Amino acid sequence: MPARLQHKSALITGAGSGIGFESSLLFAQEGANVLLVDVKLDAVERAAKLVQERNPNIKAVAFKADVSIEADIKAAVDKAVELFGRLDFNNAGIMHPEDDNALNTEERIWDLTMAINLKGVWWGCKYAILAMRNNPTDPTKSLHVGGSIINTASFVAIMGAATPQLAYTASKGAVLAMTRELAMVHAREGIRLNSICPGPLKTPLLMDFLDTEEKRQRRLVHLPMGRFGEAVEIAKGALFLASDDSSYVTGIDFKVDGGLTSCYVTPL
Ligand code: NAD
Repeated sequence: MPARLQHKSALITGAGSGIGFESSLLFAQEGANVLLVDVKLDAVERAAKLVQERNPNIKAVAFKADVSIEADIKAAVDKAVELFGRLDFNNAGIMHPEDDNALNTEERIWDLTMAINLKGVWWGCKYAILAMRNNPTDPTKSLHVGGSIINTASFVAIMGAATPQLAYTASKGAVLAMTRELAMVHAREGIRLNSICPGPLKTPLLMDFLDTEEKRQRRLVHLPMGRFGEAVEIAKGALFLASDDSSYVTGIDFKVDGGLTSCYVTPL
């Protein structure tokens, strides 16, 4: 079977860890060149080295950028275009430990969360769209392929969470709304935009927070599959959205959540 991302390139934010790292590995394995972007330079350099070692036929390059800063994202997209050009996975995000309910969340936590989780995705989309307008038509396809932009939201954008994290939930809901609108506006340019909604995963972002068995069990009881997801399972969903297998898919909230948002599960 031919590699699914041959002749493509991906800019992936939050690539130093979790979903972003697993997606970088998987996309490279499927033939894409990858620009791994993260605010943590050490982490992203380690990640890029590993991706390159395992996939010597593609280019894996580390780049330091804070997604909440427009100039950083412009520089990252410029770098990707200079190196290769094509698709974009806006995945970096935070869940701040001081994020709480409407009464207790401080304005600075709200602003920080929105700056990274929402404004960062906007910057990522803006510069990816500008770059993708210059993408050549794929010579191996009859379809015009402008590019695919994937934005990471969360299951909490669809169902809300009883353990409050107001800024996080609001930021992810806004990612879904923004992505749908951008998908409609840019559909005729051949630029597809989709959101991916991961369920709760075994990555540092969540596991640092669920640091006791009691806290983990409180969540596991609601998961139809009885387990947390793995970052690589989200990467596989992202691979579908990134590849031409999804050439007629745009504007969707793609749930990769083990059935969590579809079921009313009670304790056994
Ligand atoms: P992670 O913490 O393992 O990785 C996130 C990466 O983003 C880190 O390497 C971090 O350094 C980077 N990052 C943070 N702020 C940044 C910034 N300002 N600029 C650039 N990079 C920055 O997290 P993960 O679990 O892989 O989560 C990735 C995405 O998936 C996030 O958007 C998160 O909200 C979403 N998500 C995660 C879960 C989960 O259970 N883990 C569930 C739903 C959605």
